[in-house]
Amino acid sequence: AVPVLELAGVTKTYRVKQGMFSAPKPLHALGGVNLKIHRKDVLGLVGESGCGKSTLAKILLGLEAPTSGKVLIDGREVTARERTVLARRIQPIFQDPYSSLNPRKSIEDIIALPLVVHKIGDSASRAKAVTRMLDLVGLPQRVLRGYPNQLSGGQRQRVAIARALVMNPEIVICDEPTSALDVSVQSQILNLLGDLREELGLTYLFISHNLAVVEHLATRVAVMYLGKIVEEAPASELFAGPRHPYTQALLESVLTPDPNLSVPDTHLGATYPNPIDPPSGCHFHPRCAKVMDICKTTPPPHVAGPQGHVDCHLHAAPAR
Ligand code: SF4
Ligand code: MG
Repeated sequence: AVPVLELAGVTKTYRVKQGMFSAPKPLHALGGVNLKIHRKDVLGLVGESGCGKSTLAKILLGLEAPTSGKVLIDGREVTARERTVLARRIQPIFQDPYSSLNPRKSIEDIIALPLVVHKIGDSASRAKAVTRMLDLVGLPQRVLRGYPNQLSGGQRQRVAIARALVMNPEIVICDEPTSALDVSVQSQILNLLGDLREELGLTYLFISHNLAVVEHLATRVAVMYLGKIVEEAPASELFAGPRHPYTQALLESVLTPDPNLSVPDTHLGATYPNPIDPPSGCHFHPRCAKVMDICKTTPPPHVAGPQGHVDCHLHAAPAR
């Protein structure tokens, strides 16, 4: 089947200045990302902050243009001029419902706004749509006339979900949708997202720094490090047998309940590298528990498997 959403060789380079008098340097936020998302899949995109996850989300939402490479929907390239196509078919749910909802607008206006922006329907049909969305996300109709500050964090995230779904999107980009919420509320929102996916046949790109959160919903997982997907696999395979040392380290830190405990066999405590000045060879080598000499000088090979890939010297075919 043709993927509903595809990124082909997408790069994004910013020019940044580190000091007032220094010449701008290139920052490769995305270093050639290839991803295919099939209909009704939940692709979990995992990585630490600064790895490029949010840049990737912005490109998919048409908020930024890639430096090179393509975004395809149903196998067809979406050009920069067709950003409204992206906006109609792809909707976001962001991390922080406190800052992503306008405090001066009523809940009704917030949920209806995408319809107004895209000039869809009249005020009567919009009001109807908003009512339906509240039911869908499990909010009582009485919140309509209220304002974001009158709602709890979980309720605000439900409003954000309603606002995303009112456009009837096929693909929803969830960017850390539960990170700002209490743990008990997190699972309610994850369950809601799972139910909505079933009910509406949605496809998700689910972005998180936390593999445990991704495990709830993901059918596939892509692990990102310094702007590259270093491993991708079906979720069940990745959780049962992570192949990239970075994925292994992320998984171990999830399994270690106390973040202050020393995690065996990982150096993930070492700081995340500066993307302006990435480490030579394999970008992960200064933090890798399995680093070899070749890793310090030579970028890792892209090792494709039947169901995904891993970029790591450990998995290269042995030389004959
Ligand atoms: Fe570790 Fe080398 Fe694999 Fe990079 S290529 S993840 S440094 S073993
Ligand atoms: Mg981010």
